[in-house]
Formats: sequence, structure tokens, C-alpha cells
Amino acid sequence: MKSDGIFEQNALNTLYQGGEKHMRCPKCSHTEDKVIDSRGARSGSVIRRRRMCLRCGYRFTTYEEIVKTKLRVIKRDGTHEDFDRQKMIGGIMRACEKRPVSAESIDAMVDGIMDALESEFEREVPGQAIGKKVMEGLEKLDEVAYVRFASVYRRFKDVNQFLSAVEGLIGDR
Ligand SMILES: [Zn+2]
Repeated sequence: MKSDGIFEQNALNTLYQGGEKHMRCPKCSHTEDKVIDSRGARSGSVIRRRRMCLRCGYRFTTYEEIVKTKLRVIKRDGTHEDFDRQKMIGGIMRACEKRPVSAESIDAMVDGIMDALESEFEREVPGQAIGKKVMEGLEKLDEVAYVRFASVYRRFKDVNQFLSAVEGLIGDR
């Protein structure tokens, strides 16, 4: 019957709302449940869902966590190392020393850089690409901080040497 079909479709739409997949009921092993509540935890990196089994009515909780791809940095000498967000923030903060740049805006800039790197690169990021992004970000954030980086550039004969220095700022110190 047509009306039954529509009802079924609506029920399905409710079930699959937000693309939420079903979990196996811990009590009766039924694989259909209804999400009765969703909320973010740990500042949105984890989603907590309260679910109810559609067969036995048992209520249980699932956690959905974003699995971040661990980016690796390819250094100029060809070696790899784990990308370290804290180190990058440290480098940017040094460039922004005594400048009216808030920690929040540096954080936001780093978030933007991370997003861009994660969408542009699968797993491995050349160090130069990171340096370039930091330069672009600083240019928008604070002129003086940008010029500090740029002044380092003038001391080097070629762009590769400069980028090595930027890599040093991001990495080693
Ligand atoms: Zn159940």
C-alpha cells in the first residue's frame, strides 16, 4: 500500500537522521536503535549519543570520536618526523612576541593551517609547504610578525635556505 510505504520512508528518515549508523544492542544484539540524544563532549571532538534499542528498549551510550590523520613532515634531507602542532604554535608565538596578537588568533590561524594541510596532503607534508602557510597566515595576522620572518629571508641567498630557517623555527627550537 502506498501510505504504508510513505510511513516506512518517514520512519527510516528519522532513524538515519544525520547519517547516524546503528549499533548492536549490548543486551539483545539487535542492530536497530534510535538516537534519543546527541551532544558534543571534549569541546566537540567527541560526540556522545544516547541510544535506545528498537527491539528491547534498552538504553545505551556510544561515543564517536574524530580520528585525526597523523601528518608527517618531510624534511629537506628526506627524513620524516611527526607533525607537531605545539611546535608550530611555538614558532609563530616567537614571531609574534610583544605584538598585539592574542593566543586565540594564533590558535585560529593554526587551525586554519592544519585544515588546509590536511585537505591538501594525504599524510606527508613537505616542510616548505608548512613554512609557506605560516608566512601567509602571519601576513594576514600581524605585519610586524610577518616582517620578522621576511627579514630572516633577506639574510639568505635563496628561498630554500630561507625556508630551512622557517622550518627551524617551526621545528627544532
Ligand atoms: Zn536490544
